Amino acid sequence: MITRLITSNVHGSDDCNYQFLTSLLVNESIAIDAGAIGFYSSPKEQEKIRHVLLTHSHIDHLASLPIFIENVFTGRPDPVIVYGSTPVLDCLQSDVFNNRIWPDFIELSKFPVSRFLDIKTFEPNQTITLEGINITSININHVVPTVGYIFDDGKSAIGYVSDTAETEEIWERLNKQANLKAVFLEVTFPNHLQWLADVSKHLTPKTFKLELQKLKKDVPIFAVHLKGRYRDQVAKEVADLNLPNVHITKFLKDYTF
Ligand SMILES: [Zn+2]
Ligand SMILES: [Zn+2]
Repeated sequence: MITRLITSNVHGSDDCNYQFLTSLLVNESIAIDAGAIGFYSSPKEQEKIRHVLLTHSHIDHLASLPIFIENVFTGRPDPVIVYGSTPVLDCLQSDVFNNRIWPDFIELSKFPVSRFLDIKTFEPNQTITLEGINITSININHVVPTVGYIFDDGKSAIGYVSDTAETEEIWERLNKQANLKAVFLEVTFPNHLQWLADVSKHLTPKTFKLELQKLKKDVPIFAVHLKGRYRDQVAKEVADLNLPNVHITKFLKDYTF
């Protein structure tokens, strides 16, 4: 499996370390979240994405979805498929594709000439298979219904745990995953904003470390979702944890597992 964190700011130089929006590509064809995929590269490159899995309904995870859906519309009968739990798909219908924020692509897609997207329910504790990868959805602990994912292609498995505060079930599942190769875990706010992390159900480096103690596997950990405004401070506090297997995920770098 190859993962790539999509960059999410517009900058004149290579210095684009700020993650304002969240999207992780797996094998170029599956996107976890749609924060930035519609602002990424070119429509041709975006067209490679055939499946979009939404963790939850927050805007940093679906900001570019309406633009992406428009960019990749080709009129083909098998459009991109968007997956989410029932509450997430309800939000898409009522809050995004509602003919006010954006055209109702869900309704339009019922007609053969305007197949913009397919919507599929993917509930927690279900496993689906996409492009040879078994993907399991598991509830994690955030202020709105949110899932993490385990991707398993037989050879390798990876976990994706974001957005979340302290959580249990996904760690139990990952500990049973014999072929686990990596975990992507959120760390959003610096330690002095623990109160804000608590009310918004996110992690700080301090609680990030506590979560990692629940993982009984010695695999690389890739930190994601560092809040842009505090990025450098969070990165320093993560480095100060002195955990040799923890890395800050680099943008547009292909990690192969
Ligand atoms: Zn969130
Ligand atoms: Zn978020």
